[in-house]
Amino acid sequence: MSEILNCPFCGHEAEFIQDTCEAYVECTNGDCGACSGNFGYHSGDQKAQAIAAWNTRTGDAK
Ligand SMILES: [Zn+2]
Repeated sequence: MSEILNCPFCGHEAEFIQDTCEAYVECTNGDCGACSGNFGYHSGDQKAQAIAAWNTRTGDAK
């Protein structure tokens, strides 16, 4: 399982969130709001895909 890197924008920890139709990684800093994008509609390992998308972000525009 991949580890979730800290937010590239503000350095806060990020966490994986999943509910019935959403699966994404989001920054825990409410003032930042960075997000990996929603992988809830993907097949396969949604958590791994969301984490991979988050971990490849390098501080580009939100
Ligand atoms: Zn952040």
